Amino acid sequence: MNFRERDQKHLWHPLTQHKLHPDHLPIVKAKGVWLYDEDGKQYIDGISSWYTCMYGHCHPQIISPVKKQLEVLDQVVFSGFTHPPAIELSEKLMAILPSKMAKIFFSDNGSTSVDVAIKMSLQYYFNRGEKRKRIIAFDNAFHGDTFGAMSVSGLSVYNGPFEDFLLTVDRLEVPDENNITALLKKFKAMLDTGEVAAFIYEPLVQGAAAMHMYRPDHLEMLLRMAQDAGVLTIADEVMTGFGKTGKNFASEYMISQPDVICLSKSLTAGVAPMALTCCSQKVYEAFYDDEISKGFFHGHTYSANPLACTAAIAGLDLLRSDEIQTAIKNIHKRHLKFEQYIKTHSKVKQTRVTGVILALDLDVKMDRYGKLRDELYAFFMEQGVFLRPLGNTIYTLPPFVISNSELNRIYEVMEKSLELI
Ligand SMILES: *Cc1c(COP(=O)(O)O)cnc(C)c1O
Repeated sequence: MNFRERDQKHLWHPLTQHKLHPDHLPIVKAKGVWLYDEDGKQYIDGISSWYTCMYGHCHPQIISPVKKQLEVLDQVVFSGFTHPPAIELSEKLMAILPSKMAKIFFSDNGSTSVDVAIKMSLQYYFNRGEKRKRIIAFDNAFHGDTFGAMSVSGLSVYNGPFEDFLLTVDRLEVPDENNITALLKKFKAMLDTGEVAAFIYEPLVQGAAAMHMYRPDHLEMLLRMAQDAGVLTIADEVMTGFGKTGKNFASEYMISQPDVICLSKSLTAGVAPMALTCCSQKVYEAFYDDEISKGFFHGHTYSANPLACTAAIAGLDLLRSDEIQTAIKNIHKRHLKFEQYIKTHSKVKQTRVTGVILALDLDVKMDRYGKLRDELYAFFMEQGVFLRPLGNTIYTLPPFVISNSELNRIYEVMEKSLELI
């Protein structure tokens, strides 16, 4: 039996209806921006394997310290113990996080980092003896697939069976020029109930909502209002964190800083699953007490795994290097140039760019997982470029280390794909 047949015997893949999509392509190797399948055919990883491996796959500066760490300390319980990689990571992160951040809580993935943020917010008010049980989240938000994260997410096609079991969430449209005045009014009315514990948002770019982008000054107004009303603000930077918007964190585009930030995905440079929820001193202090039960009794077995922390430290060193900072600016400039060129194409309805993220909306109606979407995906793969269309949006979020010619190849294949519609 080959890989494909063996896969079908026991494996159940994420976000997949297996009856319609039984076949999965075996990838056996990856290096830099390239993925290699079992036949040796290679593909440019145009979405950095879901925004994780921003420094390219198997980067020597990441792999080598992880290998060394593997010989020294592989895993240890993080309650009662601490270890050098976690300590060093906390110091390096604090040096670049927005200045309000004071404490870091580890978990395993983006969804758990959001669940931690939600639990922190609810317990923050509980510990202070205030009844605040509602959370405000944006329409079309995506914050993950665990129950808390699913509750504050908006893509309900997938949430149908669970809707009766979710947290109490007030929904807000994403701001734009047309709705902002009405939106601020609605937001104020929600805040005025005095029942809201937190406002959670993906700053500037909603990834799963087809890279929907919105203005920093609009978000700034919402953050000010929330903070004036004593509501905690949670920036979900699981996708936007670590340079993808052009700055280290999207939150840097606003003056008002969040009380809590969720980080994962490229945190570990695509090497190991790990996540963080960072919070301000104010949040931490609501838990700091002589009473045990006021503590935060949440924990994951692999919290702060030393190998994952080591990969994260190496990733941060790369992020701060001149080479990567220059690469981020270069990709952004090239995206803008391609955007200028492609936006007048008759099949292109809309274009947008933030940092290294480029998205094109095609002028056609299609389902999120419909037939044309599958045809586009198959075309990209046949052309040797891994891109995953979201509805009628095609986008790229390439590794920072992509070369000009590799990036041009992505643009070329995107343009060619327009002939399919
Ligand atoms: C991917 C993502 C998550 C969920 O992270 P997982 O590691 O897949 O659980 C949460 N929030 C945002 C903004 C994301 O992009």
